[in-house]
Amino acid sequence: IAPQSALLRIDNISKHFRGLRALDDVSLTVDSGEIRGIVGPNGSGKTTLFNVISGFYRATSGAVHFADSDTTTARPYALSLAGMARTFQNLRLFGQLTVRENVLVALDRSRTRTIWRYAVWQPGIMRQERRLRAQADAILERYGLTDFAGAAPTSLPYGIQRRIEIARAMAGSPRLLLLDEPAAGLNGEEVQQLVRIVRSIRDSGTTVILIEHNMGLVMSLCEKITVLSSGKVIAEGTPQEVVATPEVIEAYLGD
Ligand code: ADP
Repeated sequence: IAPQSALLRIDNISKHFRGLRALDDVSLTVDSGEIRGIVGPNGSGKTTLFNVISGFYRATSGAVHFADSDTTTARPYALSLAGMARTFQNLRLFGQLTVRENVLVALDRSRTRTIWRYAVWQPGIMRQERRLRAQADAILERYGLTDFAGAAPTSLPYGIQRRIEIARAMAGSPRLLLLDEPAAGLNGEEVQQLVRIVRSIRDSGTTVILIEHNMGLVMSLCEKITVLSSGKVIAEGTPQEVVATPEVIEAYLGD
């Protein structure tokens, strides 16, 4: 009996790899409009949780509900169409494409394809392409990437590449954005910029869940934090509540 505002509900999820319990009976609920932090020592199951939520892994047991649908066995592509987007710890930009094209591909992929789309007469397609291009340029502008539109992503500084990845994930206006260590490798100024970007993403109506090692960032950005250790949720609450939990202090000192 979840409140109506729950966008994501994870019920008793376990994920086993042979003998290893990467996730062990994990339950959590994320409401619409939240910025949720997922923290925990290395190997505690954070990325595995993202992979289960986004359909890259099938849970061993338990259930996932996203946007009022049972998505326990849904595949990444279906979840993307349903409004879930994610970034990865390691950048996954298309190196052969320009920055604008990276966003264009994501825009194009985010709409439902039918054969009919390609059967419309030529001027219709041209209009469609022009519209996509305008949308891509608007997204680049929003993320401060206009100057890099024609560049190859790999030629750009790492911090810019991370921003392109977020812009691309946001291209389909997702309801939920999963960010896997978005601050990794960023300098102090870039982290501040990331804070502003994530807040503006949430303010525009997208719920955000982020895995992060930078505790300062998590503490300042997230209203609520879920702490994993050895595949279990050991604490959940406001940043202040969580850091005062003995289990959390122990888990971090033991890392
Ligand atoms: P975290 O993101 O918190 O560092 P992970 O979710 O990456 O932790 O990993 C949790 C545990 O699950 C680790 O022991 C890891 O080795 C294991 N694991 C993750 N993915 C796989 C996989 N595909 N096959 C086998 N073991 C895995």
